[in-house]
Amino acid sequence: MRASRYFMPTLREVPAEAELISHQLLLRGGFIRKQAAGVYVYLPLGWRVIRKIEQIVREETDRIGGIELFMPALVPQELLDETGRSGLDILFRLKDRHGRPFTLGFTHEEIITDIVRHAVSSYRQMPLLLYQIQTKFRDEPRPRGGVIRAREFLMYDAYSFDVDEEAMERAYQAVRDAYLRMFHRMGLPTIIVEAEAGAIGGGRNEEYMVVAEGGEDKVLQCDTCGYGANAERCELPDPNLVPPPINTVPPAQKVATPNARTVQEVTAFLNTTADRLVKTLLMRVDGKPAAAMVRGDRELNPYKLMHALNGESVEMMDASSIEQLTGAPVGFSGPVGLPPDLPLLADYELKGLQDFITGANEADAHLVHVCWGRDFPEPQWADLRVAEAGDRCPRCPTGTLREVRGIEVGHIFQLGVKYSRAMNALFTDAQGNLKPILMGCYGLGVSRCLAAIAEAHHDEHGIRFPITVAPFEVILILVNPEDGKQRETAEQLYSALLQQGVEVLYDDRDERSGVKFKDADLIGIPIQVVVGRAVQDGQVEVRLRADKSPQRLAIANAPAHVLALIDDLKRELEPAR
Ligand code: ATP
Ligand code: MG
Repeated sequence: MRASRYFMPTLREVPAEAELISHQLLLRGGFIRKQAAGVYVYLPLGWRVIRKIEQIVREETDRIGGIELFMPALVPQELLDETGRSGLDILFRLKDRHGRPFTLGFTHEEIITDIVRHAVSSYRQMPLLLYQIQTKFRDEPRPRGGVIRAREFLMYDAYSFDVDEEAMERAYQAVRDAYLRMFHRMGLPTIIVEAEAGAIGGGRNEEYMVVAEGGEDKVLQCDTCGYGANAERCELPDPNLVPPPINTVPPAQKVATPNARTVQEVTAFLNTTADRLVKTLLMRVDGKPAAAMVRGDRELNPYKLMHALNGESVEMMDASSIEQLTGAPVGFSGPVGLPPDLPLLADYELKGLQDFITGANEADAHLVHVCWGRDFPEPQWADLRVAEAGDRCPRCPTGTLREVRGIEVGHIFQLGVKYSRAMNALFTDAQGNLKPILMGCYGLGVSRCLAAIAEAHHDEHGIRFPITVAPFEVILILVNPEDGKQRETAEQLYSALLQQGVEVLYDDRDERSGVKFKDADLIGIPIQVVVGRAVQDGQVEVRLRADKSPQRLAIANAPAHVLALIDDLKRELEPAR
C-alpha cells in the first residue's frame, strides 16, 4: 500500500477526555475516530488490526471444531422476555413501524438457544460449538477508554451445546485452552481469574485479564498458589475469630452525631477510628430487603450478599424505602431495632469485634458500646466484604493476596441449563428421556483487544504492534522522494516485498523525513525499512520498531532478510500445541 494513496488521517491534538495511553495512541495514529459517546469509526489502519484479531479467533475456534454463523443484531424483544432479560438497563430498544418491540443484541444467548431448540432434538446432534463475530450494543452508563468500553463494539461469541455435565465441562475446557492460544497469538499476555457472572448468569465462569495499569478491573492474585479472582468475585476465608468477652462492655448508649453520616464524618466527630465502626447497608436481593454489616473501613461486596442469600440479583435500597424501613434517613442505619423478619448478615470479621459504633436508626444519632448477641440478635455470618491486597488467600493456607489492575478481554461461562430450561431447548438422550441441553457461552472483546494490545505494547513514541496483529508487517520509508536513486531503490524493494506476499506500507509521501519517522513509530508497524542516503553505498537500513538497533544491508539482500525477520517474529508468537 502506498501511503500517498492511503487513508490514514493521524491526529496532532488528542482530546483531553482520552486518559488511557491506548486511547490517545489509537486516536493519534488514525486507528479510530469517535462518532458519538462510545461509538467509534474504525479507520483503515484500525480495521486491518481488527480483521487480524478476527482471523486469529476464527482459526483457533475452527481448530477445536467450532462452526461459524451470523446472527441478527436486531433482536425481537419477546425472545428476551422468555429469560426475563428484556428489562435490563443496558439494552438499546426500538420499535418497528408496526410498533413491535426490538432490542439491539447485547449478547446472543436467547437467539442461539432459539435457533438450536428448533434444530436440535437428539443427543446425536451434539456436541455442538457455534460462534459468530458481530457488533454488540450496550447502553453503558460510562463509556470509557475509547474502544475499551464502547456502546457499539465487536464481540466474538461462541456457544456450546452438550448432553451432560461432563461433556459441557469438556467443551468449556477446550474453549478455555483455545482462548489462551488466541491471546498468545495476538501477543496479549493474559491471566485467567474467577469472576462474577453478571447478567449472563450460570455457574463456573472465568475472565481473561490483560494486566495493565489503566485497566478498569481490580484483580487479586495469591502470591503462593496461583489463585486469581476479579475483586467482584474474590472470596475470603473465614478467619474464625474468637468473640471478645462483653461482660465489661458498658450498655449501649445513644450519642448525638448531628449531620455526621459518612464513616469519615462519624469517626471524626466521635474521635475514633473506622475499624471501631460498623456500617449497616440496606440492600435488596431479588427485590427483597436485607441488611448487611461490614466494618467501617471495609467495603460491602454486594454479589457476596446475593450469593449468601442464594439470590440472582442485588441492588441498593432506595433512600425512601430505607427511611420507611428504619425510620431514619440514609447514613444512620444500624442493627439495633430492625424488623425481626429482616435478614441480617454480617461479615466474618465482625465475629471478632464487640463494643462498636453503629447508626441508631434515628436522624443525627449513633449508638456506642454496641455488642452483637446482646443489643441485637447474633447475625448470620458470611463472607461479605471486598477483598483487598494483604488479605489471606481463600485457597491455600499461607498465601497472601496482592492487587493488580486488568483489562477484561474475554469471559467464559458454564451456563448449565439456565437458558435451555427457560426457553425449552430439549433433546432426547440415548435412553429416550427428554432433557434440557447443557450450554456454555464464551465472549471475547474483539475491538477491546485492539485497545488492550496498544495498552500492553507501546513506548513514549507510539504503539509497538506484535507482528501477528500489526496493520502491516513492514513499513518502507522513502526518506527523500526527490532523490532519484532513493526513489528507484524504494520502488524496487516495494515490488520485491509485495511479490513475496509481505504486507508493506510504503511511505512514499512528499513529507519531511522527520514526519515520516514519527508517524512510523506512532503507528507501530514492527519492521521498518529505511531507504535513505546509504543507497549511495548500495545499502538500506532495517530495524525493529521494538528495539530500534538498525542493521545496514546490501539492497539486494534486504528482501530475504526481511522475510527471515517476519518468520522469526511470527514464530515467537506461535502457541504450544
Ligand atoms: P464488563 O464487566 O467489562 O462490563 P461484561 O462482563 O459485561 O463486561 P461480557 O458480557 O462478559 O462483558 O462480554 C464478553 C466480552 O466482551 C468482555 O470480556 C469484553 O472483552 C467485551 N466487552 C464487554 N462489554 C464491552 C464494551 N462495552 N465495549 C467493548 N468490549 C466489551
Ligand atoms: Mg464479563
